Amino acid sequence: MTNKPAAKIAVIGGGFSGVSAAKELLDNQDVNAVVHIFDQGGRGPGGRSSHRRIKVCEQESGSCITGIVIPDDDRINPNDSEVLDFDHGCQFFRVESEEFKNEYVNKWINKGFAAKWNGKFLNTKSKSNDLNDEILFFGFSSKCEMYCGVGGMHTICRKIVSECEEVYCKENKFKCFRATRVKDILRKKKQYELFATTGKAALHDTAESESKILENTVSLGLFDGIIITDASASFENWHRASCGIRRIGGDFVNEVSKRPRVPLFTCMVAFEKPISSIDFDYDGISFDLGKGAKENNNILWFACCNGSKPGFSDKRCWTLVSTPEYCINEIQRETMQDKITGEFKPQTNEYLNGPLGPSQTMFKAFQNQVKKITGNTNFLFPKVIYIQSQRWGSAFPSPLPIHKSHLREILGVTYNLLPRLQKIEKTEESYRERQQWKDFVVHDEQLLYYAGDYCSSRQPGPEAAVLSGVAAARDLITRIDGYYDDTGKRKL
Ligand SMILES: Cc1cc2nc3c(=O)[nH]c(=O)nc-3n(C[C@H](O)[C@H](O)[C@H](O)COP(=O)(O)OP(=O)(O)OC[C@H]3O[C@@H](n4cnc5c(N)ncnc54)[C@H](O)[C@@H]3O)c2cc1C
Repeated sequence: MTNKPAAKIAVIGGGFSGVSAAKELLDNQDVNAVVHIFDQGGRGPGGRSSHRRIKVCEQESGSCITGIVIPDDDRINPNDSEVLDFDHGCQFFRVESEEFKNEYVNKWINKGFAAKWNGKFLNTKSKSNDLNDEILFFGFSSKCEMYCGVGGMHTICRKIVSECEEVYCKENKFKCFRATRVKDILRKKKQYELFATTGKAALHDTAESESKILENTVSLGLFDGIIITDASASFENWHRASCGIRRIGGDFVNEVSKRPRVPLFTCMVAFEKPISSIDFDYDGISFDLGKGAKENNNILWFACCNGSKPGFSDKRCWTLVSTPEYCINEIQRETMQDKITGEFKPQTNEYLNGPLGPSQTMFKAFQNQVKKITGNTNFLFPKVIYIQSQRWGSAFPSPLPIHKSHLREILGVTYNLLPRLQKIEKTEESYRERQQWKDFVVHDEQLLYYAGDYCSSRQPGPEAAVLSGVAAARDLITRIDGYYDDTGKRKL
């Protein structure tokens, strides 16, 4: 262990990239680092690989059925039939590189954090295993190995944080703060002071009016370096996730903020009992989006039965994932920014679950697709006991190469209508474009980093996020080394 004074590093975001960067900084013996993770999520780390546990509390007639989101969605009693479990962002992940497989995924599997998904998968278009088929969800074919967090996609990030807490908390070297939204960063001599809003005002879906009343500002202290891991944190101040980096980071954020986004809706739907039919025993379905699609399906991209995932057995809960095209059309209709005041517009349940909103639209599309798959137009679905959708305005970055003809700009944000997710090494064009990318973005003169899938040239997903976070952390470690002179004073 080095004798140099501890460098205090702030990691903004507790998704795969943030927790991986933090662990790399802490585990590395060449650097003496104190690491704090700040995440705006109220229920703990996970980010876009998040999970929801719902207690259905109230059923309304008509289109809106609600429940209480359990504040801590770690599994308390897996046999509690009144609790519904959903991965509501990332559904699975895959493994491309040997580094990700050997250094991370195999270790997670050995520790019980992750496991292979063994559900039954259907691709409604080709029913083929062609990995180059662009319609496949995240490049998965029915033969491709898919992995999940055991007990929910969020568990991997949570377990990594727990490991860091076990080893480093007692030495005061690590802390992870939830419901803490970094909203401003000030340069103070050679350091940074971070400011945050905490509690309910920090959450992305608190109504703007309520958020303004609850808004509070706390100083998070001084830090020597920062790793930011969320693309939305680079937005101007109008956006709820903005961390205020634009003012001090200058152009360095542009590489991240200008990358086109692929937005998605997810819809969590639970039935009174599992859908069980001899004609329909699938656990994951990738829907036909091609031009030749018989039914006009520009709404649904994927559907997954959560009970088919490792650590779960309750097959009542499904997560439906929209197409980017459907989401972009909705963002155009129901913008994320008020067109007159310019204020951030959080998603409201009235919109999400209303008669024409994404929940009902996606559910109807799912019903139609299942009828089509089974060939039974009278297919009877069990009663719906819970339904809730969520907009993911920056679900993942536009994969490379970016086809400019598919881009659409809405209120200054560029979206990709038809992302092509392909098996990377088979795409020469994408390989050439990727050569120009590092896995992270760094400010030339300051210890300021951007990491995450938005900075990576890899296929978007947990692999891109983890390897980006680790690469940023490793680079930071080399720069910290030259950060102190021999007497232990900061040089930069
Ligand atoms: C609906 C959906 C489905 C997906 N499905 C798949 C899939 O099946 N397979 C696959 O490979 N990939 C999938 N992905 C992509 C995958 O989830 C991401 O690539 C990956 O999770 C990115 O991790 P990350 O750490 O880079 O970012 P994130 O997980 O987004 O982490 C960033 C964190 O920063 C926090 N944050 C933002 N601003 C602030 C702030 N100002 N202060 C504090 N905290 C802040 C956020 O709340 C978030 O927790 C999906 C994504 C979505 C949204």
